[in-house]
Amino acid sequence: TSSSITRPKLLKVVVLGDSGVGKTSLLERFVNRRFSQQYKATIGADFLTKDMFVDDRNVNLQIWDTAGQERYQSLGSAFYRGADACVLVYDITDVKSFESLETWRDEFLVSASPSDPQHFPFIVLGNKSDLEGQRSVPSRRAQQWCVSKGDIPYFETSAKENISVDKAFDVVVTNALRRG
Ligand code: GDP
Ligand code: MG
Repeated sequence: TSSSITRPKLLKVVVLGDSGVGKTSLLERFVNRRFSQQYKATIGADFLTKDMFVDDRNVNLQIWDTAGQERYQSLGSAFYRGADACVLVYDITDVKSFESLETWRDEFLVSASPSDPQHFPFIVLGNKSDLEGQRSVPSRRAQQWCVSKGDIPYFETSAKENISVDKAFDVVVTNALRRG
């Protein structure tokens, strides 16, 4: 049967990471194709949507960003509920944001309690790769962490220079679709 007559598959993706790592900027780049240097504490909505065509399927991506609460409070159960994939973001110039990945991953697993947590489609993005001169997290360190958590895919991205953003979200969707 033709995929064009198939209803799009709705996929919920949540984006987690410390404040300031570039979560909102990555989504702005991916969904709206732009970048602004200004700090955006909120996008003013619970989620952004984007239609995609991946692996012969029409996909309606629902991407949940925080409204800045990650700084001081928990995100609430609605944020995590029913997530099909989870994007963990850190800033390659900020070691602390890398060390927080462990907490964000644990928080996700506790709050979303996915079936089969061992194989849940996480992805890790080391953002601000345009700031190579200020790097404080070696790629290898991040890669090793990803391997130790069951081979989580790892990308270094730049929302600012539009590096590997589309590629990373393609992997997010492909892996979420594979899960069924
Ligand atoms: P969030 O708190 O995780 O949502 O982070 P924001 O998207 O608000 O970004 C925080 C700051 O980092 C802003 O000043 C952005 O302009 C900047 N930023 C985000 N992504 C990049 C990037 O890829 N490269 C550089 N150089 N700056 C970035
Ligand atoms: Mg933000």
